[in-house]
Amino acid sequence: MNQRRPGFPARLDQAVAPPGSRSAASGPATATAQRPAPVKPQRPGAGDRPPGLAIPTGLGMDSAAVRQRMVQKLAAQGVQSAAVLTAMGTVERHRFVDSALVNQAYEDTSLPIGLGQTISKPNVVARMLELLTQAPGAQGGAGLGRVLEIGTGCGYQAAVLSHLAREVYSIERLRGLHEKARDNLRPMRLANVHLLLGDGMLGYDKGAPYAGIVAAAGGEAVPEAWCQQLAVGGRLVAPTVMAGGRQALVVIDKTHHGLQQTVLEAVHFVPLKSGIA
Ligand code: SAH
Repeated sequence: MNQRRPGFPARLDQAVAPPGSRSAASGPATATAQRPAPVKPQRPGAGDRPPGLAIPTGLGMDSAAVRQRMVQKLAAQGVQSAAVLTAMGTVERHRFVDSALVNQAYEDTSLPIGLGQTISKPNVVARMLELLTQAPGAQGGAGLGRVLEIGTGCGYQAAVLSHLAREVYSIERLRGLHEKARDNLRPMRLANVHLLLGDGMLGYDKGAPYAGIVAAAGGEAVPEAWCQQLAVGGRLVAPTVMAGGRQALVVIDKTHHGLQQTVLEAVHFVPLKSGIA
């Protein structure tokens, strides 16, 4: 066991589990090297498919065309960021869902990913990532710096983020999903995505400060640790339970003058829970 900062150069074949389920933010994380899975052929680029990486049967059409239709719909629904639309058009969402759900992979619907969790609808993913890229400190089209995602789930949003940010730290509390995301992402060889097993309510101190923090699960309040780990000029986007029990999308900008909170539209995310399981 060695102790080190997992991002550089921790890769997808390494899991970082905090020594205790509640100590990710305080104690040193331990990088545990896992046995690498057999290496699959690398895809040269979006749209290119060498033999053996055929579109799963059931998708019915070339997936790039279906994805472009999804992107057009997202643009019609108000997503304006070219970078976000390009990223959404690049990541093959059907590779993140069960084979039985492949036909629905590009529909604007949330889908089950196991262990009672869901992958958000494309529209919600695009909306949140667009908000993230509009942080006051974001430098135009230069892309985001380091980003923390709370709730890796199947790894889909982390893959989209990998096209928008320099480094992506994504933390998941459920071991089964952390492993599933690792399996899903490994063939994509996204060297800037770092998957962590831990309690995301504590954020991930070792990668801080973050230009952006995005939560895929909704808590009663935005955890203090997230605000602390946000860089000045950075933005946090998190579904949060409001008075009355409904969730809304909350945006927090960190400025030199403090935190500025904006409450946006109603959303419906799985609950943010503490500890790992
Ligand atoms: N972004 C994901 C969506 C996953 S759903 C995707 O693209 O698939 C939200 C995830 O948040 C669930 O997997 C849930 O287990 C996880 N989650 C909830 N509370 C958490 C916490 N405290 N720390 C880390 N992950 C958490």
